[in-house]
Amino acid sequence: MPSPREDCLFCRLVADGDHVAAADGFVAIRDINPLAETHLLVLPERHVDTFRDIDAFPDEEAGRMLRFVSEAAEQAGLENYRVLVNVGAGAGQTVLHLHWHILGGRPDAGRIASALAAEGAA
Ligand code: 5GP
Ligand code: ZN
Repeated sequence: MPSPREDCLFCRLVADGDHVAAADGFVAIRDINPLAETHLLVLPERHVDTFRDIDAFPDEEAGRMLRFVSEAAEQAGLENYRVLVNVGAGAGQTVLHLHWHILGGRPDAGRIASALAAEGAA
């Protein structure tokens, strides 16, 4: 596993954040600014800037990451939820460490709409 980036917020939260679920190579944390009743972030331990760089994950690890997204949602008691990845600043990505949003329960529709309306998304 490549070493964490010292200047990366999510590398730090992988190392010492408040994990609600964890598995080999992945953790889930609560979003600090939730867009829905339950808003989790799944973070891979491996630092990869964006989903565009998914090729950096061996196939087996990419598969386990998807399964962990599903497990983290299940462990949070969610049956119905959304999974979202913002790819690039123009699409609203503010932290350059690949992460999966899990949004469950009552959404904050206004905030989701404005988050999705990130200027320059193309
Ligand atoms: P993005 O906009 O990059 O797709 O998502 C980044 C997410 O990280 C945002 O939803 C934001 O609320 C969340 N976030 C930013 N800083 C922190 C933090 O220090 N702790 C946690 N738990 N979430 C954070
Ligand atoms: Zn990182």
